[in-house]
Amino acid sequence: MAVMVTGGAGYIGSHMVWKLLDQGEEVVVVDRLSTGFDWAVPAEAELVVGDVADQVLIEATMKRKKVDAVIHFAGSIIVPESVSDPLGYYLNNTAKSRDLIESAVRSGVKNFIFSSTAAVYGSPERIPVAENEAAAPESPYGTSKLMTELMLRDAAAAHDLDYTILRYFNVSGADPKMRTGQSTKGATHLIKVASEAATGKRDYMEVYGTDYPTPDGTCVRDYIHVSDLANAHYLALKRLRDGGKSITANCGYGQGYSVHEVIDAVKRVVGHDFEVRTRERRPGDAVAIVANADLAKSEFQWKPEYDNLETIVSHAIQWEEMLKKRNT
Ligand code: UDP
Repeated sequence: MAVMVTGGAGYIGSHMVWKLLDQGEEVVVVDRLSTGFDWAVPAEAELVVGDVADQVLIEATMKRKKVDAVIHFAGSIIVPESVSDPLGYYLNNTAKSRDLIESAVRSGVKNFIFSSTAAVYGSPERIPVAENEAAAPESPYGTSKLMTELMLRDAAAAHDLDYTILRYFNVSGADPKMRTGQSTKGATHLIKVASEAATGKRDYMEVYGTDYPTPDGTCVRDYIHVSDLANAHYLALKRLRDGGKSITANCGYGQGYSVHEVIDAVKRVVGHDFEVRTRERRPGDAVAIVANADLAKSEFQWKPEYDNLETIVSHAIQWEEMLKKRNT
């Protein structure tokens, strides 16, 4: 019996693979290595290089490895890129997920865990936002993920399939044992970018918009440590295997930080200043979004271990130093 991890050579996926291996699970990774790295996949996991929409490959792999659960991370994740290339996002995140879900149904894989996003909420009226808040994505990225959520719901109603949809807030940090981290080239996510500026990989960083209706004018996000997120998936997997019913749950800490607050934390942790420039707003950005994570805690007995901004930032910086040493 094995768990199929799509996008397992990527940032969050590779943390998931380590978590599963640590728990003694057999893992098969499917990744086309468009943004992921083969070196990010531990030798103990099998890496199948291919596309999640290649149904011949996927169904043969599901059968060969006796896959009982899919954890589907593969997809595109950059909000402004989705604004300029919506059809690319609907292909990668929506159409290809449809094909993967169909392969799971045809292969009798009962358990499906899907990486969704807080972006499905847009800029919610109530913060922290709970799962029953109306979805109102403000970018094609959020819409592409919401469409997959709906497909999964309908497929589960029609077939022998149970799902857990996890809506991630802002995932950051790195494996505390430094076995993996965020290695994406040209990364755009705030803590990654700030860690690159802090470690000299870039000369300066930019803040996109300081005129938002927030206390310091910059957007507010709920930053969650990637290892806590991987653990939430593992608990969700156990719950599904134990017969838990399909569910959609937020994954965040319920604590919001502004862009300025994050940058200040990075400067404090690294112990020196770096240049920060102010720019105009970035398209597609929601003003403020913070999770109500009660459901994940009650349903999965999820207990965050690293819910501290400085801990997250210090792991992100340590990983940046590792990459520098390796020259990647
Ligand atoms: N951001 C920024 N500078 C950067 C990267 C991000 O000011 O170099 C801001 C971005 O505009 C947003 C917040 O940081 O308000 C979080 O953005 P990120 O891309 O990390 O995640 P998102 O919330 O878009 O998924």
